[in-house]
Amino acid sequence: MKVLKFGGSSVANAQNIKLVIDIVVNSAKDEKLIVVVSAFSKVTDLLQLASRKAAAGDESFKEILIEIEKKHLEAIKELIPISEQSSLLSHIKRIINHLETLLDGCYLLGELSLRTADTILSFGELLSSYIIAEALKQNLKNSGYKDSRELIKTNSHFGKAAVNFEISNQLIIDYFESNENQVVVLPGFIAASLDGINTTLGRGGSDYSAAIMAGALNANQLEIWTDVNGMYTANPKVVKQAQPIAFISYQEAMELSHFGAKVLYPPTIQPVLRKNIPILIKNTFEPDAEGTYISNQEMTYKNPVKGISHIDNITLITLEGPGMIGVTGSSKRLFEVLSYQEINVIFITQASSEHSICIGILNSDADLAQEVINKAFEVEISQNKIDPCIVERNLCIIALVGENMKNHQGLSGRMFSTLGKNNVNIRAIAQGASERNISAVINERDVKKALNTLHENFFEENTKQLNLFVMGVGNVGEKFIEQIHKQNNYLKENLKINVRVVAISNSRKMHFDEEGIDLNEWQSLLQNGETADQENFISAVKDLNLRNSIFVDITANESISKTYEHYLKRNIAVVTCNKIACASEYNNYKKLKNLSQKFNAPFLFETNVGAGLPIIDTVKNLVASGDKVHKIQAVLSGSLNFIFNNFNEENTFHDVVKEAGVQGFTEPDPKIDLSGIDVARKILILIRESGYQMEIEEITNESFMPAECLETTSNEAFFNSLKDHASHFENIYKEALSKDSRLKYVAQFENGKANVGLRFIPKDHPFYNLEGKDNIVLFFTDRYVDQPLLIKGAGAGAAVTASGIFADVIRIGNN
Ligand code: ADP
Ligand code: ASP
Ligand code: MG
Repeated sequence: MKVLKFGGSSVANAQNIKLVIDIVVNSAKDEKLIVVVSAFSKVTDLLQLASRKAAAGDESFKEILIEIEKKHLEAIKELIPISEQSSLLSHIKRIINHLETLLDGCYLLGELSLRTADTILSFGELLSSYIIAEALKQNLKNSGYKDSRELIKTNSHFGKAAVNFEISNQLIIDYFESNENQVVVLPGFIAASLDGINTTLGRGGSDYSAAIMAGALNANQLEIWTDVNGMYTANPKVVKQAQPIAFISYQEAMELSHFGAKVLYPPTIQPVLRKNIPILIKNTFEPDAEGTYISNQEMTYKNPVKGISHIDNITLITLEGPGMIGVTGSSKRLFEVLSYQEINVIFITQASSEHSICIGILNSDADLAQEVINKAFEVEISQNKIDPCIVERNLCIIALVGENMKNHQGLSGRMFSTLGKNNVNIRAIAQGASERNISAVINERDVKKALNTLHENFFEENTKQLNLFVMGVGNVGEKFIEQIHKQNNYLKENLKINVRVVAISNSRKMHFDEEGIDLNEWQSLLQNGETADQENFISAVKDLNLRNSIFVDITANESISKTYEHYLKRNIAVVTCNKIACASEYNNYKKLKNLSQKFNAPFLFETNVGAGLPIIDTVKNLVASGDKVHKIQAVLSGSLNFIFNNFNEENTFHDVVKEAGVQGFTEPDPKIDLSGIDVARKILILIRESGYQMEIEEITNESFMPAECLETTSNEAFFNSLKDHASHFENIYKEALSKDSRLKYVAQFENGKANVGLRFIPKDHPFYNLEGKDNIVLFFTDRYVDQPLLIKGAGAGAAVTASGIFADVIRIGNN
């Protein structure tokens, strides 16, 4: 004989019940079955809501009742042939009328006792089981129905009654001994006290009802049919990558369910564990999936961690003070008052100094617990020996569970460093003496991130997921997204990095997708996105609170550069090609660097100087390895280099600047390049990264541009002014020719001073042959004395800049 239990979603409606019937009919071919069913999905919640409303004098409980009635009548109409519907319909109507009378009673009396609440809640399973039994009869003549209240007897602890196994087991055995049916359907969750009053076994308790039947009858197997493919390595609704666990021990399953794996109601294991009856968790909607097999079978362990679970709505209560030390019995008194109030303690940790004790309970018990604890220690509190208890709400417990964890060192270290790296603040830690679990209390807002990073670390072969929030999709941004799209598989397979773009924004629109934007159609998604708004963007990024989040700024916008600190403070990395922040006041630059360090959030801006060339990284490595930079000489403007390399007798200055813009070599506002500001910013950043403190105003900028051109306020006016001043530029060109030199816009730093300006470069100088839009930097350092360290290559262009940003992202991924 086997016991099968079908949960709420498995019996949510007629369509699902048909699946259940198929499974039952199929299994009944081989052996006798007991089928335990839950209420239709959400019905227990609705009953609870209706009864509370009624007791509060809110008439809308009637609407809920109508909804409940409708659900059941609809199911009957689909499951039972019309000719046979009427008697069942009238039976169900009678039950609903009875329910209505009870709710009216609550309404009139304005009260709802625990005892009445249990009776009202029992209607969910009564209705569902009766309908399912009738529907099953249509398919399997030899099937019957039995009311569990006649078999499972409990004490009168309403809300979560304790089973009297001696009596219940005997009743169950006696009943089934004389029962001839191949299948018997019973309601889960409900029972009766010895004096015949309705009781319930606690929310989620249908699993337990089934286990009680299985235990009493020594069933071959208990099958829990639900809406997922078994017990997973983490709640699959929160961790997408979670996988079903094929085999798990009773103890591990108990531990996971105790710490929140709702798929199994924690007490379920006891009745079957004693008899060594295996539990199989199966998916009603995918009956061919293997499911999870729970038994005491010896296991081979590849991974010492079996699963990660969590419980929401936790409050931590800390009791501390010198009065706790060495005084025997403080803990006893604490637990006594809590148990007296039936407050369930989920988590306990005590400092070895005994100076404080900390417990985790449900938020809903917090007020009462605070009150009774403070009352119990009233005398000590008044004498300042113990402080009034500290109450912290809205926390969450996460737990790593695994039988074999005790044989592995360093697991807790790995757990906490993984959380720490993602800035998940840990409020308390406990490790069961069995070493079957390590649990920690964290803030509720971090739970998704915590579960996902832990899962990634312990179950996903070290694949690291990076979540990008991309601001700016112009020339460079577009290339960047293209590159990510193309490289995605390579990164996954070779570097074990999974890069997902979670948000894209330009100045008009923004689009978010927590699961990662489909990069095949990002343009249209963005076009149809919501209106762009910096504030909303920042809060959406914070609220998502994804692990390894990276804000990528691909704009040249000052206001965006001012948002970095919001990200860094939330442990969100910033990668930027926008130079404004790093070239702003030194204090701001330093502040961002400090925040990056403090919150363990990388702040990378390799593309601020020399686009994709590894210039900043090189300086960082020089400095970190103890070298000292004394002098820098550089051509740092790919745009100016392009312009002066193409400006000759045949092309006017105006046309060359225009062309540079078209090819994406200049900033959106070309004045930023031509005024020398852009170069000044770059050398400033190199100087700062070399360890010197300097402000942009300290850099001498010897502009070659007529003031009038730089004073224009639009790109159009600027280009016109270039035409007006054509002869000015021609003269500069002629002068260079006459000196047999080339024009290069050079940045220089030496003896603590820096300048930028257009220079005539003679033939023998390393800058003379700098082609196209190339950049070159010479570093003179303690180690590179006679021959400077030279970095040279393409220093502008959308593709190389995008690849530089990409490299920064990968640096973070590899970290
Ligand atoms: P039923 O109505 O069938 O009793 P429940 O809702 O009580 O189903 O339990 C199944 C749900 O448990 C899943 O849909 C899932 O959201 C949740 N769950 C939480 N942790 C886990 C886990 N580790 N493995 C599987 N499911 C889990
Ligand atoms: N229907 C009950 C509940 O929702 C019992 C169960 O589904 O297991 O809590
Ligand atoms: Mg359940």
